[in-house]
Amino acid sequence: MSVTVRVPAKVNLQLGVGPLRDDGYHDLVNVFHAVSLFDEVTVTEGPLAVTVEGASIEGVPTGPENLAARAAVLLAGHLGVEAAASIHIRKEIPVAGGMAGGSADAAAALLGCAALWNPGLPLKTLMELGGQLGSDVPFALLGGTAVGVGRGEVLTPLPTSGEYHWIFALAEGGLSTPAVYAECDRLRAAFEEHAVWPHESPALLAALAEGDAKALGAALTNDLQPAALSLMPSLQRTIAAGRDFGALGALVSGSGPTCAFLAGDAEHAADIAAALRGAGVARAAVAASGPVPGATVL
Ligand code: ATP
Repeated sequence: MSVTVRVPAKVNLQLGVGPLRDDGYHDLVNVFHAVSLFDEVTVTEGPLAVTVEGASIEGVPTGPENLAARAAVLLAGHLGVEAAASIHIRKEIPVAGGMAGGSADAAAALLGCAALWNPGLPLKTLMELGGQLGSDVPFALLGGTAVGVGRGEVLTPLPTSGEYHWIFALAEGGLSTPAVYAECDRLRAAFEEHAVWPHESPALLAALAEGDAKALGAALTNDLQPAALSLMPSLQRTIAAGRDFGALGALVSGSGPTCAFLAGDAEHAADIAAALRGAGVARAAVAASGPVPGATVL
């Protein structure tokens, strides 16, 4: 028996990073938004294994360290069953791109394995288990638009109106999330900047509730952006090009290096994607829309 799960990438509409805590983590305010770039994860009963296919899959492990395999092992342990899951991942979400592709695969594996081993397991249980694997995993199960506080794993869905049209400019190479946080700490220390406790942006929440793309574009923020730009200065050109081509908003997605641009409608998004490709400021530029549902059994 096998189950296929489709799972979306995320973009952070707001990523507020608080001061470094004693335990090495930062308190975050994270507005997650699920977009129509999907991985497909097929789980078949059989010996635990991971295979991956896709145009750009360098760096994706196929051993037990793959987050989807770790998710299967975690769920099996929770249920007291053998982790008999042969996992195949069709990857469309950029790897190490700040769009939570690994977390998405973990969420898909949790849902797929649950469908095989214990259908009817509550989403809440899967989200709790997902939170043990990574702070982005619960959101990949939930989808839509949601705000996460703490390390990002306590989620509250946000009301939104309408559909938003995005362009994602994929970079050559990836950025390691821990390295970007470390650079953020280094820059703050160097500039004696005192990080403040982050709060949800009222302008962002109002724009989402009203379906106002222009106001949303103006309200996008990412406290990790200076660090991502410091580690990969070429992203400044990418961001500037998207603005020049008329994007309503532009920011680095999560820890980068993918850059996200908001367009007024689908046609505008296709135009900006073509212009970014033509300008040679990205490895690829893809249009997508959001919000979309979280991990879904096909
Ligand atoms: P985030 O936005 O959550 O910080 P990311 O999108 O920047 O993550 P991922 O694509 O999740 O980055 O990959 C980060 C690293 O995780 C990869 O370089 C790889 O070594 C490891 N990894 C483990 N499992 C997976 C998986 N299923 N898919 C992609 N990467 C994985």
